[in-house]
Amino acid sequence: MYNVAVVTDEKCVAKKGCRLCIMYCPEADCILLDTKNMVAKVVTDICKGCELCKVVCDAAKHQAIEMLAMGADGKLLHKKGEAAGLGQAYAG
Ligand code: SF4
Ligand code: SF4
Repeated sequence: MYNVAVVTDEKCVAKKGCRLCIMYCPEADCILLDTKNMVAKVVTDICKGCELCKVVCDAAKHQAIEMLAMGADGKLLHKKGEAAGLGQAYAG
């Protein structure tokens, strides 16, 4: 189990021009702008769980990104408290 970033669409202010997470994510094409809904979207297959996007989003007081655990089956576990430990972030 490891963590991946997930954007809460209602909190994302990409429509106002924010691109912080997209600019800071170290993985290529990992956070994309969903131009239809004008929100940031994480490609969970590529996300390494480094939390940099969450740090910059929180620092800008948007709090639109949370880290959620992904199970071995590649499905997100949406229950609170199921996030993997920090040391497991790069397990994959
Ligand atoms: S940093 Fe946060 S508010 Fe800004 S585009 Fe990314 S998810 Fe949206
Ligand atoms: S957790 Fe890291 S790798 Fe994943 S989307 Fe955020 S910045 Fe990119």
